[in-house]
Amino acid sequence: MSKKTSILLVEDEPNIAQGLIYNLQAEGYRVSHVESGEDALAYLADHACALLILDLMLPGIDGLQVCRKIREQDLQLPILMLTARGAEQDRVAGLIEGADDYLSKPFNLKEFLLRVSGLLRRSNWQQPVPLNTRYRFGSNAIDLQTHQADTAAGKLQLTELEMKMLSLFFANEGSVISRGELLESVWELDPDTETRTLDNFIVRLRKYFESDSSKPRHFLTIRGRGYRFVKQPEQD
Ligand code: CA
Repeated sequence: MSKKTSILLVEDEPNIAQGLIYNLQAEGYRVSHVESGEDALAYLADHACALLILDLMLPGIDGLQVCRKIREQDLQLPILMLTARGAEQDRVAGLIEGADDYLSKPFNLKEFLLRVSGLLRRSNWQQPVPLNTRYRFGSNAIDLQTHQADTAAGKLQLTELEMKMLSLFFANEGSVISRGELLESVWELDPDTETRTLDNFIVRLRKYFESDSSKPRHFLTIRGRGYRFVKQPEQD
């Protein structure tokens, strides 16, 4: 399981985006990149991230509108606004709309990385949570607060441990999570514990959420390594 800090970069200029991604990754951050405000909001509805780096001038809705929409629901996500206009009024507007810090282009890379680490340090006591409390995959929607799930087979109420396990899968979508990590994080057991509990839970999740639990597409067994959650399986 990756413990890397995840950052969402919203930048429509490919050259700038590439440079920033390269340097952020070199610092050990995990970076997701989208090119528009609409895509940023869609991404944040389902994914947790620890920092948003937001370009002001974007095609479609601009950075200020993105910022405003995010702050309607989330007052904690640190936002670093990038702007090509250096005018003071933009700085003020950016802060009013809820950005936590701003940098005007062209900026010094070292300065940029310092701002990033500063914002992350200030907010690292927070648990990142998705903006939207409903997590959707396949034909399922799960309310992360009430623990209610809407599935193709109907509604169900998830237990605390089922929810804990799902949250771990959702937060590490696409990555393999080892048995040991699941036992430790969900059950607080020693990672080497021999138990069928975990296997039974996986069987149960597949029964709830897979259209054919004998041919799982979301909750995959990775032989010898653990399990992987796939939000959007390839079409077959
Ligand atoms: Ca731009």
